[in-house]
Amino acid sequence: MLNGKTALVTGSTSGIGLGIALELAKQGANIILNGFGDHAGPKAEVEALGVKVGYSGADMSKPAEIATMIDYANTEFGGVDILVNNAGIQYVAPIEEFPIEKWDSIIAINLSAAFHATRLVIPGMRAKNWGRVISVASAHGLVGSAQKVAYVAAKHGIVGMTKVVALETATTGITVNAICPGWVLTPLVQKQIDDRSAKEGISVAQATKELLGEKEPSLQFTTPEQLGGLAVFFCSPAADNVRGVAWANDGGWTAQ
Ligand code: NAD
Repeated sequence: MLNGKTALVTGSTSGIGLGIALELAKQGANIILNGFGDHAGPKAEVEALGVKVGYSGADMSKPAEIATMIDYANTEFGGVDILVNNAGIQYVAPIEEFPIEKWDSIIAINLSAAFHATRLVIPGMRAKNWGRVISVASAHGLVGSAQKVAYVAAKHGIVGMTKVVALETATTGITVNAICPGWVLTPLVQKQIDDRSAKEGISVAQATKELLGEKEPSLQFTTPEQLGGLAVFFCSPAADNVRGVAWANDGGWTAQ
């Protein structure tokens, strides 16, 4: 379905981003990976699906590096047809103890990076009259939780930006939507489980059970594969007129 298209997935050396990259590649899309840490392993995994794979090590907190990444996509891949704004970090503390530099980096990576990447790919999408911008927000783009002031502010911002850019492109072949996952068992969440286990002196299994029980009625993690499936749907002709939605995939978290 996506043969000949190129998807740039930010923060795709791990977790949800890698899951989405793999599902888009299964549909034939060429993939540009981005993120920190080992990228050779993820690159080989996507290449095994028979598509062209590139990599940019751009730090998503730096607008100039985002611009360089988009230049690379234009030169080496003929542009970005599908942009998945996924890179993100977390920090947990009450507002009066929240480090200013953590606020700044969460807003930069989880919100401003999506603004920069989106503004830079929209012209190429307009020229082709086809494009997909899919931003990985969160259940925290729809509701709040204590101790996550920067993350919740950034994710609500993503949902707002999604609506605005969807309106600005509403008469074109470009659609702009957000995905709002509940808990997904990735390194980002494993850290929160480990911190809870250490703080409360309970086992990791018990901490996992408590984490799910607090928020997610299904008591199940959403998987990166399921989120990849949702991204594939947004790229399909069935979703040509799905514009500006914030689609929960959260085991009922935000239905409460
Ligand atoms: P993860 O830690 O497994 O992956 C994060 C990715 O972002 C990695 O590839 C990392 O290298 C990259 N990254 C971090 N900082 C970066 C930077 N400055 N520049 C470039 N890349 C950077 O986390 P994840 O759980 O897969 O999270 C992915 C997205 O999904 C995030 O936006 C997160 O907020 C969102 N999300 C996660 C969950 C969950 O339960 N895991 C739930 C809802 C939303």
